[in-house]
Amino acid sequence: MKNQQWSMIDQFLDKADSILITSHIDPDGDALGSMLAMAYICEQWGKRVVCVNESSIPRRFSFLPGIDKIVRPHQVMETFHYVIAVDAADRSRVGENVERLFHPEALILNIDHHITNDRFGSVNLIDPHASSTAEIIYQWLAHSPNVRWDSRLSTFLYTGILTDTGGFRYANTSANVLRYAAELIEYGAPAHEIADQALETVTFKQTLCMQRALTTIETSANGQIAWLSLSQADLQQIQATDADIEGIVNIPRKIIGVDVGIFFRETSEHTVKVSFRSRQKVDVSKIAQAFGGGGHPRAAGCTIEGTLEDVKRQVLQRVEAELGCA
Ligand code: 5GP
Ligand code: MN
Repeated sequence: MKNQQWSMIDQFLDKADSILITSHIDPDGDALGSMLAMAYICEQWGKRVVCVNESSIPRRFSFLPGIDKIVRPHQVMETFHYVIAVDAADRSRVGENVERLFHPEALILNIDHHITNDRFGSVNLIDPHASSTAEIIYQWLAHSPNVRWDSRLSTFLYTGILTDTGGFRYANTSANVLRYAAELIEYGAPAHEIADQALETVTFKQTLCMQRALTTIETSANGQIAWLSLSQADLQQIQATDADIEGIVNIPRKIIGVDVGIFFRETSEHTVKVSFRSRQKVDVSKIAQAFGGGGHPRAAGCTIEGTLEDVKRQVLQRVEAELGCA
């Protein structure tokens, strides 16, 4: 990123006095950390901010300072002329109730690292080489003379970088990522506490979802594809929330020989959310995009209409074709 691009953020913020800050549905550590970091900076600079997310916040992120400031759309009674969207690859990813809070002529600052980002903002800061949106924000702030670094701000950004690199394990863990993380620790981010909360904490219901999902394990393409699924009936029986099914998609990909791990979740009678993780060969963002979704080469997702069985068949056909097994 060039200095010119950093100044685009500054110019956007110069004009804005009251700002809506949001991110994608089912927020992860990068979405939440990036939202809270932007809010913290905007408030330092005398702006009024409202943070909103379409979905509830996973409990393991309750350690983030000020997380209660992130409200649900029904709690917001106004529309905003200035919007900051972080970690959202397209406008619809913020959710329809959040989108209603955008004034029809709202200016949108779109900060993101998804290669599939469609540049829906009035100002777009997209860096697909960045590990996380938090990393982009860190780089911008590192160039900015008016930032008061403290343990809060560094906690927000460290959380985003840590979670989007899978705890510094994914292919996006560059030397720079580790340099930035080290600097954030120097600024006060409590690294081991953040890792414990954000990576090593599950809800009991999450464990029940894993238990149920594991009974559905199947493989194809000589063990290169493995998948798990949960039906609506399963989810209702466990009374699982969106946060309770997090992490399940990572299980099939761990199996030796598997390149693509998939998790199918029936979200209604006619829709299935599909999550993909790949190890090396298959660019799953392309597959997700072909079904109207998006993401990164190693982690992507989409929502497809059809029954669980229909969707599985369509998706597996496509992945098998990518692996040359069709
Ligand atoms: P997950 O499988 O954890 O929901 O998502 C993995 C990655 O794919 C994330 O980076 C997420 O942003 C992206 N992703 C998941 N679902 C969708 C979707 O429906 N549309 C788009 N554009 N991206 C998605
Ligand atoms: Mn991210």
